[in-house]
Amino acid sequence: MNKLEHIGIAVKNLEESNRLFSRLLGTDPYKTEIVEREGVKTSFFKVGDVKIELLEATHPDSPVARFIEKKGEGVHHLAFDVQPIEEKMENLKSEGFGLLADTPKPGADNKKIVFLHPKTTNSVLIELCQDRG
Ligand code: ZN
Repeated sequence: MNKLEHIGIAVKNLEESNRLFSRLLGTDPYKTEIVEREGVKTSFFKVGDVKIELLEATHPDSPVARFIEKKGEGVHHLAFDVQPIEEKMENLKSEGFGLLADTPKPGADNKKIVFLHPKTTNSVLIELCQDRG
């Protein structure tokens, strides 16, 4: 893993949480983006080298909606920058980690992403991401 790239936080209302986190962090989100395939509307804040990604579900059966139903709002995933992502996936697979997809998918913020199965990572949802360039 190269570095912690961002921390994903599940929220019920992106508008309200954008205002909250703007006040908290002292900076406005630098982008808002809908990732239809993941069923999320996201916004990104930059704090030093790390980003905060807020995630609101776009429909009631999106993974983020199910997460909030089960656990409430809060920290949803940690995302690590890796390069190249395909090689890291192979390495982690051979180390016994589960992957939620066989190939990386387009994610928000111009990234290729894949998630590790939280059952294999102490219940922490881990995202691997690489810039699409
Ligand atoms: Zn993320």
